[in-house]
Amino acid sequence: MRSRLRGSLLAGAIGDALGAKTEFDSIDRIRELAGPDGITDFIPAYGGAGRITDDTQMTLFTLEALIRAHAQRRRTGSADVVHSLQMAYQRWLHTQGVAWDRARGPRSDAEVPDGRLITHQELFSRRAPGLTCFGELEAYGRSGVRGTMERPVNNSKGCGGVMRAAPIALWSDDLAEVFRLGAESAALTHGHPSGYLPSGCFAVIVHELLHGKPLLEAVATARAELVKHPAHEEQSTALDAALELAEQGPPTPEKLESLGQGNVGETALSMSVYVALTTTDADSALLASVNHSGDSDSTGSVCGNLVGAMYGEDALRKSWLDRLELRDVIVGLADDALAEFGPDAPGDDRWFARYPVD
Ligand SMILES: [Mg+2]
Repeated sequence: MRSRLRGSLLAGAIGDALGAKTEFDSIDRIRELAGPDGITDFIPAYGGAGRITDDTQMTLFTLEALIRAHAQRRRTGSADVVHSLQMAYQRWLHTQGVAWDRARGPRSDAEVPDGRLITHQELFSRRAPGLTCFGELEAYGRSGVRGTMERPVNNSKGCGGVMRAAPIALWSDDLAEVFRLGAESAALTHGHPSGYLPSGCFAVIVHELLHGKPLLEAVATARAELVKHPAHEEQSTALDAALELAEQGPPTPEKLESLGQGNVGETALSMSVYVALTTTDADSALLASVNHSGDSDSTGSVCGNLVGAMYGEDALRKSWLDRLELRDVIVGLADDALAEFGPDAPGDDRWFARYPVD
């Protein structure tokens, strides 16, 4: 489990960093920039090689929220995990340059953003943050009104919900609950069903992979949960297209692009599933997931979360790990999650200062 969870988070960050420079570039432009084989290694972006983007930043805040809510429930007997997620994303918003008194929202009276993750200064950097996430979190800062599936905040199906959802896999072994929380976490900022249902699907798939299930089985399990929800057709059709295309051998940029651009929820997930299904190691999956004309960092991140859980930390290329920004923070947070969700969760003051009540 340790290797799979660390692997999922690290590979997600590697995929994010591999696609960081070419988020908005066509495959022709990528080949011009990186050579005929496209991206084969980190391309410097945001001041260096191996720099992550908003996808990984927000994924880390998702994981921190789950640890905090779980610790709070152990300590006080109850917790509102969706509120913890909202507050974690408000802290992320603060790292993007929004003053804390405008970011925190009316339900919080914290003078400063608390907990451990926010103390890492490297997170205070704008890496082309998604405008929908940014705008809706700013709106929450003003109104304190939480977006839900029943009361959608907008009609966006951007991939900003799914790209940050992998850690939701840890929340429960009840797959309906994992799906629901995945979808609810995305509905905070994305109101279209294809903005939040992919997130539920993705969380279930990652849950199954973390428990050693094969990918095809994990996708089938998630699809079975998906179709219980209204307006699932766009995502279920996109997943079916990925499964069908996967029968035609190894991935190419052209085949991958036939599934979409990855900038919306349903194709960010289906393209990532397709690449994970048609490769046999983490390296080739990560490279295939960023070599296309669409939203390369997000498909890299989502696909990375999948293949890292499948193959584990030790399967990841050492030269990528060594240059990966925030590697120690990612590993530290993964290990804290395993401690919190494990049989001997810490109960000391230091732990509860690191993961305080929301
Ligand atoms: Mg990004």
